[in-house]
Amino acid sequence: MATKRDYYDILGITRNATPEEIKKAYRKLAFEYHPDRNKNDGAEQTFKEINEAFEVLRDTDKRAAYDMFGHAAPGQGFGRGFEGFEFGGFGDIFDAFFGGGTGRGRRTGAQKGGDLHYSVSISFEEAVFGCEKELEIVRTERCSACHGSRSEPGTRPDTCSTCNGAGEVRRSQRSVFGQFINVAPCPHCNGEGIVINTPCRNCKGQGKQRMTRKILLKVPAGVDDGNQIRLSGEGDCGRNGGNPGNLLVTLSVRKHPQFERVGNDIVYELPVNFAQAALGDEIQIPGLEGDIPFRVPAGCQSGRVFRLKEKGVPNLRGYGRGDQLIRVHVVTPQALDAKQKKLFRDLAKMLGPASLPREEKSFFDKVKDTFGASN
Ligand SMILES: [Zn+2]
Ligand SMILES: [Zn+2]
Repeated sequence: MATKRDYYDILGITRNATPEEIKKAYRKLAFEYHPDRNKNDGAEQTFKEINEAFEVLRDTDKRAAYDMFGHAAPGQGFGRGFEGFEFGGFGDIFDAFFGGGTGRGRRTGAQKGGDLHYSVSISFEEAVFGCEKELEIVRTERCSACHGSRSEPGTRPDTCSTCNGAGEVRRSQRSVFGQFINVAPCPHCNGEGIVINTPCRNCKGQGKQRMTRKILLKVPAGVDDGNQIRLSGEGDCGRNGGNPGNLLVTLSVRKHPQFERVGNDIVYELPVNFAQAALGDEIQIPGLEGDIPFRVPAGCQSGRVFRLKEKGVPNLRGYGRGDQLIRVHVVTPQALDAKQKKLFRDLAKMLGPASLPREEKSFFDKVKDTFGASN
């Protein structure tokens, strides 16, 4: 590594220059070597050196360590730290040094508010067709009196006298390894740089309050059990101007006495008696939007499934619907009276022994048909 130039030499000042002189010298040189202005070879390098020197000498602790140890000063590792110093934009640097805009230390980082989790029970039909539910939630909101400032309205927080508003305290410590500069959050103001002397009475200086709110939950058609609806920004309020969290509502869909849901299809188990199965029948069966006519074909076997297109659950994404499936159950009578028994015996003699019904083609057979395979 090339020999580093002395910071005082870089800025052209004496070792006992006052902070005001350091600043003045820096300002003059920084303008002179600013790469926007100075296109000479090496100007940018010089500009970096000037900034590095200023960054150390403007800081009382770093300057003291530099005076004592030169570039080898421990703790902050001046040389090391600056090698990774990225110049994102020169304007930013001027802002930081002269405008004092983004001062260091103060813990004023915005924090996002917490998410809230609720669950809501809705009926089968409400899930299918959508609904609106009024939800009562308890959440943390910004105090309505102080708007989160924590100070009683009309008063202002004071700058912390321990850290002068910096939010951090620096202590030089000597040990066998040399001098260390220990930077810690200010214990008096918890690193905030301000002290609230007149806390807001409404929130007792918390800046926030617990509120019970009624929220209108719009449940879209087609949701299913376990789906979660996210209401953006309806959670707990953030800190230091951070965004509020979200409200997450998990849906619990109650069972239907007659329908079972499989994805966007609904399944209805249709019981028919021997006569209906044998002779066929015109009946009404329950559908999602009321009864629908259904024809049981003559000779219908138990277990046969019929599909009514587009009579199922609307697609959550807004197009199309599932189907309603009807599965036929031929119910064998269990408690026959004498007359019924006689009729069945007569029927039995006429029908003779049963044989397995001619099976409908399986899915596999249909595929083979489609592709014209011979067997
Ligand atoms: Zn308040
Ligand atoms: Zn403080």
